[in-house]
Amino acid sequence: MSEDLMLTIDGAGVAGDNPLDVINPATGKPFTTVGAASEAQAERAVAAAKAAAQAWGKTSIETRRALVLRIADAIEANTDRIARTLVMEQGKPWGEAVGEVGDAAGFLRYYATVDLPVQVIQDDDAFRIEQHHRPLGVVVGIAAWNFPLYLGCTKLAPALIAGNAFIWKPAPSTPLTAMIVGELARAILPQGVIGVIVDRNDLGGFLSGHPDVAKISFTGSTATGRKVMAAVAPTLKHLTLELGGNDAGIVLDDADPDTVVPGLAGIAFFNAGQVCTGLKRLYVHDSLYDTVCEKLAAAAQELAVGDGLDQGTKVGPLQNAMQYAKAREYLAAAHADGTVIAGGTAIEGDGYFVQPTIVRDIAEGSPLVDEEQFAPILPVIRYSEIDDVVARANASPYGLGGSVWSSNPARAVEVASRLEAGSLWINHHGRVAANVPFAGAKQSGHGVEFGVAGLAEFTQLYVISVPKAS
Ligand code: NAD
Repeated sequence: MSEDLMLTIDGAGVAGDNPLDVINPATGKPFTTVGAASEAQAERAVAAAKAAAQAWGKTSIETRRALVLRIADAIEANTDRIARTLVMEQGKPWGEAVGEVGDAAGFLRYYATVDLPVQVIQDDDAFRIEQHHRPLGVVVGIAAWNFPLYLGCTKLAPALIAGNAFIWKPAPSTPLTAMIVGELARAILPQGVIGVIVDRNDLGGFLSGHPDVAKISFTGSTATGRKVMAAVAPTLKHLTLELGGNDAGIVLDDADPDTVVPGLAGIAFFNAGQVCTGLKRLYVHDSLYDTVCEKLAAAAQELAVGDGLDQGTKVGPLQNAMQYAKAREYLAAAHADGTVIAGGTAIEGDGYFVQPTIVRDIAEGSPLVDEEQFAPILPVIRYSEIDDVVARANASPYGLGGSVWSSNPARAVEVASRLEAGSLWINHHGRVAANVPFAGAKQSGHGVEFGVAGLAEFTQLYVISVPKAS
Protein backbone atom coordinates (compact mmCIF):
# COMPACT_ATOMS: atom_id res chain seq x y z
CA MET A 1 0.00 0.00 0.00
CA SER A 2 1.40 3.37 -0.94
CA GLU A 3 -0.68 5.83 1.10
CA ASP A 4 0.51 7.06 4.50
CA LEU A 5 -2.38 6.80 6.91
CA MET A 6 -2.30 8.72 10.17
CA LEU A 7 -3.93 8.85 13.55
CA THR A 8 -6.42 11.67 14.03
CA ILE A 9 -5.64 13.86 17.03
CA ASP A 10 -6.94 17.39 17.65
CA GLY A 11 -8.10 17.87 14.06
CA ALA A 12 -4.82 16.83 12.44
CA GLY A 13 -3.20 13.76 10.95
CA VAL A 14 -0.50 12.58 13.36
CA ALA A 15 2.13 9.86 12.83
CA GLY A 16 1.82 7.33 15.64
CA ASP A 17 4.86 6.72 17.84
CA ASN A 18 4.78 2.89 17.70
CA PRO A 19 5.21 0.93 14.45
CA LEU A 20 2.43 -1.57 13.73
CA ASP A 21 2.51 -4.06 10.83
CA VAL A 22 -0.81 -4.73 9.15
CA ILE A 23 -1.11 -8.28 7.81
CA ASN A 24 -3.15 -9.30 4.77
CA PRO A 25 -4.94 -12.47 5.97
CA ALA A 26 -5.04 -13.81 2.41
CA THR A 27 -1.22 -13.98 2.38
CA GLY A 28 -0.32 -14.03 6.07
CA LYS A 29 2.23 -11.27 5.27
CA PRO A 30 2.43 -7.61 6.32
CA PHE A 31 1.49 -5.27 3.48
CA THR A 32 1.90 -1.96 5.27
CA THR A 33 3.16 -0.47 8.50
CA VAL A 34 1.36 2.32 10.31
CA GLY A 35 2.12 4.28 13.46
CA ALA A 36 0.11 3.19 16.48
CA ALA A 37 -0.42 5.69 19.28
CA SER A 38 1.61 5.89 22.44
CA GLU A 39 -0.22 6.49 25.71
CA ALA A 40 0.86 10.15 25.53
CA GLN A 41 -0.78 10.46 22.11
CA ALA A 42 -3.99 8.84 23.40
CA GLU A 43 -3.91 11.33 26.28
CA ARG A 44 -3.67 14.19 23.78
CA ALA A 45 -6.63 12.83 21.84
CA VAL A 46 -8.74 12.69 25.01
CA ALA A 47 -7.71 16.22 26.00
CA ALA A 48 -8.55 17.53 22.51
CA ALA A 49 -11.92 15.75 22.55
CA LYS A 50 -12.68 17.15 25.99
CA ALA A 51 -11.81 20.66 24.83
CA ALA A 52 -14.01 20.28 21.73
CA ALA A 53 -16.98 18.56 23.38
CA GLN A 54 -18.52 21.61 25.07
CA ALA A 55 -18.90 23.72 21.94
CA TRP A 56 -19.89 20.72 19.82
CA GLY A 57 -22.60 19.77 22.33
CA LYS A 58 -24.06 23.27 21.99
CA THR A 59 -24.28 23.25 18.17
CA SER A 60 -27.78 22.87 16.76
CA ILE A 61 -28.99 19.42 15.78
CA GLU A 62 -29.34 20.77 12.22
CA THR A 63 -25.62 21.63 12.12
CA ARG A 64 -24.63 18.24 13.47
CA ARG A 65 -26.90 16.47 10.99
CA ALA A 66 -25.45 18.40 8.05
CA LEU A 67 -21.86 17.53 9.05
CA VAL A 68 -22.68 13.87 9.69
CA LEU A 69 -24.28 13.68 6.23
CA ARG A 70 -21.13 15.19 4.73
CA ILE A 71 -19.09 12.39 6.36
CA ALA A 72 -21.50 9.84 4.83
CA ASP A 73 -21.03 11.52 1.42
CA ALA A 74 -17.24 11.42 1.82
CA ILE A 75 -17.28 7.72 2.75
CA GLU A 76 -19.45 6.87 -0.24
CA ALA A 77 -17.32 8.97 -2.58
CA ASN A 78 -14.31 6.89 -1.42
CA THR A 79 -16.06 3.52 -1.72
CA ASP A 80 -13.44 1.89 -3.95
CA ARG A 81 -10.50 3.05 -1.84
CA ILE A 82 -12.12 2.04 1.45
CA ALA A 83 -13.47 -1.30 0.18
CA ARG A 84 -10.08 -2.28 -1.25
CA THR A 85 -8.36 -1.42 2.03
CA LEU A 86 -11.05 -3.33 3.94
CA VAL A 87 -10.48 -6.47 1.87
CA MET A 88 -6.72 -6.22 2.38
CA GLU A 89 -6.84 -5.71 6.14
CA GLN A 90 -9.85 -7.91 6.94
CA GLY A 91 -9.99 -10.53 4.18
CA LYS A 92 -13.66 -10.38 3.23
CA PRO A 93 -14.80 -10.76 -0.41
CA TRP A 94 -15.03 -7.57 -2.48
CA GLY A 95 -18.85 -7.60 -2.64
CA GLU A 96 -19.14 -7.88 1.15
CA ALA A 97 -16.60 -5.04 1.55
CA VAL A 98 -18.55 -2.74 -0.77
CA GLY A 99 -21.70 -3.67 1.19
CA GLU A 100 -19.96 -2.78 4.46
CA VAL A 101 -19.02 0.67 3.11
CA GLY A 102 -22.66 1.26 2.14
CA ASP A 103 -23.94 0.04 5.52
CA ALA A 104 -21.46 2.27 7.38
CA ALA A 105 -22.56 5.35 5.43
CA GLY A 106 -26.17 4.25 5.92
CA PHE A 107 -25.73 4.40 9.69
CA LEU A 108 -24.61 8.02 9.45
CA ARG A 109 -27.56 8.82 7.20
CA TYR A 110 -30.05 7.12 9.52
CA TYR A 111 -28.85 8.91 12.65
CA ALA A 112 -29.03 12.22 10.78
CA THR A 113 -32.82 11.69 10.79
CA VAL A 114 -33.20 10.79 14.48
CA ASP A 115 -33.75 13.07 17.44
CA LEU A 116 -34.61 12.80 21.14
CA PRO A 117 -37.17 15.58 21.58
CA VAL A 118 -38.19 16.91 24.97
CA GLN A 119 -40.90 14.64 26.37
CA VAL A 120 -43.60 15.97 28.70
CA ILE A 121 -44.00 13.32 31.40
CA GLN A 122 -46.69 15.14 33.36
CA ASP A 123 -48.55 18.42 32.85
CA ASP A 124 -51.44 18.86 35.29
CA ASP A 125 -52.53 21.17 38.11
CA ALA A 126 -49.67 19.96 40.31
CA PHE A 127 -46.60 19.76 38.04
CA ARG A 128 -45.11 20.18 34.61
CA ILE A 129 -42.37 17.55 34.32
CA GLU A 130 -40.17 17.32 31.24
CA GLN A 131 -37.62 14.70 30.20
CA HIS A 132 -34.55 15.98 28.34
CA HIS A 133 -31.27 14.55 27.04
CA ARG A 134 -27.88 16.20 27.07
CA PRO A 135 -24.57 15.04 25.54
CA LEU A 136 -22.19 13.07 27.75
CA GLY A 137 -18.91 14.69 26.63
CA VAL A 138 -16.18 12.36 25.34
CA VAL A 139 -17.26 8.94 24.05
CA VAL A 140 -14.78 6.22 23.12
CA GLY A 141 -15.78 3.48 20.65
CA ILE A 142 -13.73 0.28 20.83
CA ALA A 143 -14.29 -2.14 17.95
CA ALA A 144 -13.59 -5.73 16.90
CA TRP A 145 -11.94 -6.74 13.61
CA ASN A 146 -14.79 -8.60 11.90
CA PHE A 147 -16.59 -5.48 10.56
CA PRO A 148 -13.99 -2.82 11.35
CA LEU A 149 -15.51 0.02 9.34
CA TYR A 150 -19.17 -0.71 10.09
CA LEU A 151 -18.71 -1.22 13.83
CA GLY A 152 -16.85 2.08 14.18
CA CYS A 153 -19.51 3.98 12.21
CA THR A 154 -22.35 2.45 14.27
CA LYS A 155 -20.79 4.24 17.24
CA LEU A 156 -19.52 7.38 15.50
CA ALA A 157 -22.97 8.28 14.10
CA PRO A 158 -25.05 8.30 17.32
CA ALA A 159 -22.16 9.76 19.33
CA LEU A 160 -21.90 12.80 17.05
CA ILE A 161 -25.64 13.31 16.59
CA ALA A 162 -26.09 13.24 20.37
CA GLY A 163 -23.50 16.03 20.62
CA ASN A 164 -20.48 14.11 21.93
CA ALA A 165 -16.87 14.20 20.82
CA PHE A 166 -15.81 10.75 19.67
CA ILE A 167 -12.59 8.73 19.77
CA TRP A 168 -12.47 5.57 17.66
CA LYS A 169 -10.14 2.79 18.68
CA PRO A 170 -10.18 0.07 16.03
CA ALA A 171 -8.83 -3.44 16.59
CA PRO A 172 -5.03 -3.54 16.08
CA SER A 173 -5.29 -6.02 13.20
CA THR A 174 -7.72 -3.79 11.22
CA PRO A 175 -6.70 -0.16 11.80
CA LEU A 176 -6.70 1.19 8.24
CA THR A 177 -10.35 1.83 7.40
CA ALA A 178 -10.75 3.73 10.68
CA MET A 179 -7.71 5.83 9.77
CA ILE A 180 -9.25 6.65 6.38
CA VAL A 181 -12.56 7.71 7.97
CA GLY A 182 -10.57 9.80 10.47
CA GLU A 183 -8.82 11.55 7.56
CA LEU A 184 -12.15 12.26 5.83
CA ALA A 185 -14.04 13.30 8.98
CA ARG A 186 -11.36 15.60 10.43
CA ALA A 187 -11.63 17.71 7.29
CA ILE A 188 -15.35 18.13 7.97
CA LEU A 189 -15.78 18.31 11.76
CA PRO A 190 -14.58 21.03 14.16
CA GLN A 191 -11.11 20.43 15.60
CA GLY A 192 -10.98 17.65 18.21
CA VAL A 193 -14.53 16.35 17.69
CA ILE A 194 -13.19 13.14 16.15
CA GLY A 195 -10.08 11.24 17.17
CA VAL A 196 -8.76 7.96 15.78
CA ILE A 197 -6.37 6.15 18.07
CA VAL A 198 -4.81 2.96 16.71
CA ASP A 199 -3.10 0.80 19.31
CA ARG A 200 -1.09 -2.39 19.66
CA ASN A 201 -3.78 -3.90 21.90
CA ASP A 202 -2.42 -1.79 24.73
CA LEU A 203 -4.64 1.31 25.02
CA GLY A 204 -8.15 -0.12 25.52
CA GLY A 205 -7.73 -0.32 29.28
CA PHE A 206 -6.20 3.17 29.44
CA LEU A 207 -9.12 4.71 27.53
CA SER A 208 -11.73 2.70 29.47
CA GLY A 209 -10.39 3.92 32.79
CA HIS A 210 -9.72 7.52 31.73
CA PRO A 211 -11.53 10.00 34.03
CA ASP A 212 -12.26 12.42 31.15
CA VAL A 213 -14.03 9.76 29.08
CA ALA A 214 -17.76 9.73 29.84
CA LYS A 215 -18.79 6.58 27.97
CA ILE A 216 -17.33 3.45 26.44
CA SER A 217 -19.18 1.81 23.57
CA PHE A 218 -17.47 -1.56 23.20
CA THR A 219 -17.84 -4.35 20.64
CA GLY A 220 -15.72 -7.43 21.08
CA SER A 221 -15.43 -10.68 22.96
CA THR A 222 -17.21 -11.42 26.22
CA ALA A 223 -13.85 -12.00 27.93
CA THR A 224 -12.62 -8.50 27.02
CA GLY A 225 -16.07 -7.04 27.80
CA ARG A 226 -15.63 -8.19 31.41
CA LYS A 227 -12.26 -6.37 31.56
CA VAL A 228 -13.85 -3.19 30.17
CA MET A 229 -16.62 -3.37 32.75
CA ALA A 230 -14.01 -3.66 35.50
CA ALA A 231 -11.96 -0.79 34.03
CA VAL A 232 -14.93 1.62 33.94
CA ALA A 233 -16.01 0.76 37.50
CA PRO A 234 -13.79 3.28 39.35
CA THR A 235 -15.29 6.18 37.35
CA LEU A 236 -18.75 4.58 36.91
CA LYS A 237 -18.86 5.85 33.33
CA HIS A 238 -21.64 4.97 30.90
CA LEU A 239 -21.06 1.65 29.16
CA THR A 240 -22.51 -0.33 26.28
CA LEU A 241 -21.19 -3.81 25.58
CA GLU A 242 -21.89 -5.75 22.38
CA LEU A 243 -20.24 -9.11 22.95
CA GLY A 244 -19.97 -12.66 21.68
CA GLY A 245 -22.76 -15.05 20.79
CA ASN A 246 -23.53 -18.68 20.10
CA ASP A 247 -26.75 -18.16 18.16
CA ALA A 248 -28.97 -21.18 17.62
CA GLY A 249 -31.21 -21.67 14.60
CA ILE A 250 -34.14 -24.08 14.84
CA VAL A 251 -35.67 -25.69 11.74
CA LEU A 252 -39.23 -26.81 12.54
CA ASP A 253 -40.73 -29.98 11.05
CA ASP A 254 -42.93 -28.00 8.63
CA ALA A 255 -40.05 -26.09 6.97
CA ASP A 256 -39.32 -26.56 3.26
CA PRO A 257 -35.62 -27.57 2.99
CA ASP A 258 -35.23 -26.04 -0.47
CA THR A 259 -36.54 -22.73 0.83
CA VAL A 260 -34.55 -22.53 4.07
CA VAL A 261 -31.14 -23.96 3.11
CA PRO A 262 -29.91 -20.97 1.02
CA GLY A 263 -30.61 -18.62 3.94
CA LEU A 264 -28.99 -20.95 6.48
CA ALA A 265 -25.84 -21.41 4.40
CA GLY A 266 -25.77 -17.69 3.59
CA ILE A 267 -25.48 -16.62 7.22
CA ALA A 268 -23.30 -19.54 8.38
CA PHE A 269 -20.57 -18.63 5.87
CA PHE A 270 -21.00 -14.84 5.60
CA ASN A 271 -17.71 -13.08 6.45
CA ALA A 272 -16.15 -16.58 6.80
CA GLY A 273 -18.36 -17.22 9.82
CA GLN A 274 -16.89 -14.27 11.75
CA VAL A 275 -20.19 -12.59 12.54
CA CYS A 276 -21.36 -11.87 16.09
CA THR A 277 -24.93 -12.59 15.03
CA GLY A 278 -23.90 -15.50 12.82
CA LEU A 279 -25.62 -18.87 12.85
CA LYS A 280 -23.33 -20.84 15.16
CA ARG A 281 -25.38 -24.03 15.82
CA LEU A 282 -28.30 -25.37 13.83
CA TYR A 283 -31.01 -27.63 15.29
CA VAL A 284 -33.02 -29.55 12.68
CA HIS A 285 -36.10 -31.67 13.34
CA ASP A 286 -35.56 -35.39 13.04
CA SER A 287 -37.96 -35.68 10.07
CA LEU A 288 -35.90 -33.24 7.93
CA TYR A 289 -32.45 -33.86 9.38
CA ASP A 290 -30.92 -35.96 6.57
CA THR A 291 -32.35 -33.80 3.78
CA VAL A 292 -31.26 -30.50 5.33
CA CYS A 293 -27.76 -31.86 6.08
CA GLU A 294 -27.37 -33.07 2.50
CA LYS A 295 -28.49 -29.75 1.00
CA LEU A 296 -26.32 -27.71 3.38
CA ALA A 297 -23.30 -29.82 2.41
CA ALA A 298 -24.01 -29.23 -1.28
CA ALA A 299 -24.37 -25.47 -0.67
CA ALA A 300 -21.07 -25.34 1.28
CA GLN A 301 -19.20 -27.23 -1.45
CA GLU A 302 -20.27 -24.67 -4.05
CA LEU A 303 -18.64 -21.73 -2.24
CA ALA A 304 -15.37 -20.56 -3.78
CA VAL A 305 -12.72 -19.86 -1.12
CA GLY A 306 -9.98 -17.36 -1.91
CA ASP A 307 -8.49 -13.89 -1.72
CA GLY A 308 -11.32 -11.38 -1.31
CA LEU A 309 -9.95 -9.37 -4.22
CA ASP A 310 -10.29 -12.32 -6.64
CA GLN A 311 -13.45 -12.25 -8.68
CA GLY A 312 -15.77 -15.08 -7.72
CA THR A 313 -14.53 -15.48 -4.13
CA LYS A 314 -17.44 -16.14 -1.79
CA VAL A 315 -15.52 -16.97 1.39
CA GLY A 316 -12.31 -15.17 2.31
CA PRO A 317 -9.67 -16.09 4.90
CA LEU A 318 -10.10 -15.84 8.65
CA GLN A 319 -8.93 -12.46 9.80
CA ASN A 320 -5.90 -13.30 11.90
CA ALA A 321 -3.51 -16.06 12.89
CA MET A 322 -5.05 -16.52 16.33
CA GLN A 323 -8.55 -17.00 14.88
CA TYR A 324 -7.10 -19.39 12.29
CA ALA A 325 -5.48 -21.47 15.03
CA LYS A 326 -8.79 -21.57 16.94
CA ALA A 327 -10.63 -22.64 13.76
CA ARG A 328 -8.23 -25.55 13.32
CA GLU A 329 -9.03 -26.66 16.88
CA TYR A 330 -12.75 -26.58 16.02
CA LEU A 331 -12.04 -28.61 12.86
CA ALA A 332 -10.34 -31.24 15.06
CA ALA A 333 -13.44 -31.23 17.31
CA ALA A 334 -15.65 -31.64 14.23
CA HIS A 335 -13.77 -34.78 13.20
CA ALA A 336 -13.62 -36.16 16.74
CA ASP A 337 -17.23 -35.44 17.78
CA GLY A 338 -19.28 -35.62 14.56
CA THR A 339 -19.39 -36.59 10.87
CA VAL A 340 -17.91 -34.03 8.48
CA ILE A 341 -19.97 -33.97 5.27
CA ALA A 342 -18.48 -30.88 3.57
CA GLY A 343 -15.08 -29.22 3.89
CA GLY A 344 -13.29 -30.19 7.07
CA THR A 345 -9.78 -28.90 6.46
CA ALA A 346 -7.71 -25.77 6.72
CA ILE A 347 -6.17 -24.95 3.36
CA GLU A 348 -2.38 -25.27 3.41
CA GLY A 349 -0.44 -22.16 2.49
CA ASP A 350 0.40 -18.75 3.90
CA GLY A 351 -3.15 -17.35 4.16
CA TYR A 352 -5.65 -18.18 6.88
CA PHE A 353 -8.14 -20.18 4.79
CA VAL A 354 -10.61 -22.79 6.03
CA GLN A 355 -13.00 -24.76 3.80
CA PRO A 356 -16.70 -24.09 4.46
CA THR A 357 -17.55 -27.05 6.68
CA ILE A 358 -20.79 -28.84 7.63
CA VAL A 359 -20.73 -31.29 10.54
CA ARG A 360 -23.61 -33.67 11.33
CA ASP A 361 -24.21 -36.27 14.08
CA ILE A 362 -22.83 -33.86 16.65
CA ALA A 363 -24.37 -32.61 19.89
CA GLU A 364 -23.80 -30.60 23.04
CA GLY A 365 -20.62 -31.51 24.88
CA SER A 366 -18.51 -30.78 21.78
CA PRO A 367 -16.69 -27.42 21.87
CA LEU A 368 -17.96 -26.82 18.31
CA VAL A 369 -21.51 -26.73 19.71
CA ASP A 370 -20.93 -25.24 23.16
CA GLU A 371 -18.54 -22.40 22.22
CA GLU A 372 -18.48 -19.53 19.75
CA GLN A 373 -16.47 -20.91 16.79
CA PHE A 374 -16.22 -17.65 14.75
CA ALA A 375 -15.27 -19.70 11.69
CA PRO A 376 -17.04 -21.21 8.63
CA ILE A 377 -17.78 -24.49 10.44
CA LEU A 378 -21.45 -25.22 11.13
CA PRO A 379 -22.59 -28.03 13.48
CA VAL A 380 -26.03 -29.47 12.62
CA ILE A 381 -27.79 -31.06 15.58
CA ARG A 382 -30.82 -33.38 15.59
CA TYR A 383 -33.90 -32.82 17.80
CA SER A 384 -37.41 -34.22 17.99
CA GLU A 385 -39.40 -32.22 20.63
CA ILE A 386 -39.98 -28.44 20.69
CA ASP A 387 -39.65 -28.09 24.48
CA ASP A 388 -36.39 -29.99 24.36
CA VAL A 389 -34.87 -27.93 21.53
CA VAL A 390 -35.88 -24.64 23.18
CA ALA A 391 -34.19 -25.75 26.41
CA ARG A 392 -31.04 -26.79 24.50
CA ALA A 393 -30.93 -23.52 22.54
CA ASN A 394 -31.24 -21.60 25.81
CA ALA A 395 -28.59 -23.66 27.62
CA SER A 396 -25.85 -21.15 26.80
CA PRO A 397 -24.29 -18.26 28.69
CA TYR A 398 -24.78 -16.22 25.50
CA GLY A 399 -28.03 -14.63 24.29
CA LEU A 400 -27.23 -12.48 21.26
CA GLY A 401 -29.66 -13.82 18.63
CA GLY A 402 -31.64 -16.82 17.46
CA SER A 403 -33.84 -17.90 14.57
CA VAL A 404 -36.75 -20.22 13.82
CA TRP A 405 -37.40 -21.55 10.30
CA SER A 406 -40.88 -22.75 9.35
CA SER A 407 -43.61 -22.61 6.69
CA ASN A 408 -45.89 -21.23 9.40
CA PRO A 409 -44.58 -17.83 10.58
CA ALA A 410 -47.06 -17.60 13.49
CA ARG A 411 -45.87 -20.93 14.84
CA ALA A 412 -42.26 -19.82 14.38
CA VAL A 413 -42.93 -16.59 16.31
CA GLU A 414 -44.38 -18.61 19.19
CA VAL A 415 -41.22 -20.75 19.40
CA ALA A 416 -38.89 -17.74 18.91
CA SER A 417 -40.51 -15.86 21.78
CA ARG A 418 -39.27 -18.61 24.10
CA LEU A 419 -35.60 -18.09 23.12
CA GLU A 420 -33.48 -16.12 25.61
CA ALA A 421 -31.85 -13.72 23.14
CA GLY A 422 -32.01 -10.05 22.21
CA SER A 423 -32.70 -10.45 18.45
CA LEU A 424 -35.01 -13.14 17.11
CA TRP A 425 -35.44 -13.76 13.40
CA ILE A 426 -38.05 -15.79 11.51
CA ASN A 427 -36.87 -17.52 8.32
CA HIS A 428 -33.71 -15.43 8.26
CA HIS A 429 -30.83 -14.94 10.68
CA GLY A 430 -28.41 -12.22 11.68
CA ARG A 431 -30.01 -9.15 10.09
CA VAL A 432 -29.23 -5.95 11.97
CA ALA A 433 -30.21 -2.47 10.80
CA ALA A 434 -29.56 1.11 11.88
CA ASN A 435 -33.18 1.73 12.89
CA VAL A 436 -33.66 -1.56 14.79
CA PRO A 437 -32.54 -1.69 18.45
CA PHE A 438 -29.85 -4.31 19.04
CA ALA A 439 -29.28 -5.67 22.54
CA GLY A 440 -27.52 -8.80 23.68
CA ALA A 441 -29.15 -10.86 26.43
CA LYS A 442 -27.25 -12.72 29.17
CA GLN A 443 -23.45 -12.56 28.63
CA SER A 444 -23.82 -11.26 25.05
CA GLY A 445 -24.22 -7.66 26.04
CA HIS A 446 -25.11 -4.80 28.28
CA GLY A 447 -27.37 -1.97 27.12
CA VAL A 448 -28.73 -1.24 23.66
CA GLU A 449 -27.23 0.08 20.45
CA PHE A 450 -28.92 1.16 17.18
CA GLY A 451 -32.28 2.84 16.73
CA VAL A 452 -33.65 5.60 18.93
CA ALA A 453 -33.06 3.50 22.06
CA GLY A 454 -29.40 3.25 21.04
CA LEU A 455 -29.14 7.04 20.58
CA ALA A 456 -30.48 7.59 24.10
CA GLU A 457 -27.54 5.61 25.47
CA PHE A 458 -25.16 8.24 24.10
CA THR A 459 -26.85 10.89 26.28
CA GLN A 460 -27.51 11.78 29.89
CA LEU A 461 -31.23 11.76 30.60
CA TYR A 462 -32.38 14.53 32.95
CA VAL A 463 -35.73 15.71 34.21
CA ILE A 464 -37.04 19.21 35.04
CA SER A 465 -39.99 19.41 37.46
CA VAL A 466 -41.88 22.69 37.91
CA PRO A 467 -44.64 22.86 40.57
CA LYS A 468 -47.67 24.66 39.15
CA ALA A 469 -48.44 26.54 42.35
CA SER A 470 -45.03 28.22 42.41
P1 NAD B 1 -11.53 -8.62 21.47
O1 NAD B 1 -12.39 -8.54 22.65
O2 NAD B 1 -10.26 -9.37 21.54
O3 NAD B 1 -11.12 -7.16 20.95
C1 NAD B 1 -12.07 -6.16 20.73
C2 NAD B 1 -11.44 -4.81 20.97
O4 NAD B 1 -11.10 -4.67 22.34
C3 NAD B 1 -10.16 -4.55 20.19
O5 NAD B 1 -10.21 -3.23 19.70
C4 NAD B 1 -9.09 -4.70 21.25
O6 NAD B 1 -7.91 -3.99 20.95
C5 NAD B 1 -9.79 -4.14 22.46
N1 NAD B 1 -9.24 -4.54 23.76
C6 NAD B 1 -8.39 -5.55 24.05
N2 NAD B 1 -8.13 -5.57 25.38
C7 NAD B 1 -8.83 -4.56 25.93
C8 NAD B 1 -8.98 -4.07 27.26
N3 NAD B 1 -8.37 -4.65 28.28
N4 NAD B 1 -9.78 -3.00 27.46
C9 NAD B 1 -10.43 -2.42 26.43
N5 NAD B 1 -10.33 -2.83 25.15
C10 NAD B 1 -9.54 -3.89 24.90
O7 NAD B 1 -12.52 -9.20 20.37
P2 NAD B 1 -12.16 -9.68 18.92
O8 NAD B 1 -11.54 -11.02 19.03
O9 NAD B 1 -11.45 -8.56 18.24
O10 NAD B 1 -13.61 -9.82 18.25
C11 NAD B 1 -14.33 -10.99 18.17
C12 NAD B 1 -15.43 -11.01 19.21
O11 NAD B 1 -16.27 -9.85 19.07
C13 NAD B 1 -16.38 -12.18 19.05
O12 NAD B 1 -16.66 -12.74 20.30
C14 NAD B 1 -17.64 -11.56 18.46
O13 NAD B 1 -18.81 -12.29 18.69
C15 NAD B 1 -17.63 -10.24 19.10
N6 NAD B 1 -18.45 -9.29 18.34
C16 NAD B 1 -19.64 -8.89 18.88
C17 NAD B 1 -20.46 -8.03 18.16
C18 NAD B 1 -21.77 -7.58 18.72
O14 NAD B 1 -22.30 -6.58 18.23
N7 NAD B 1 -22.31 -8.22 19.72
C19 NAD B 1 -20.05 -7.58 16.90
C20 NAD B 1 -18.84 -8.01 16.39
C21 NAD B 1 -18.04 -8.87 17.13
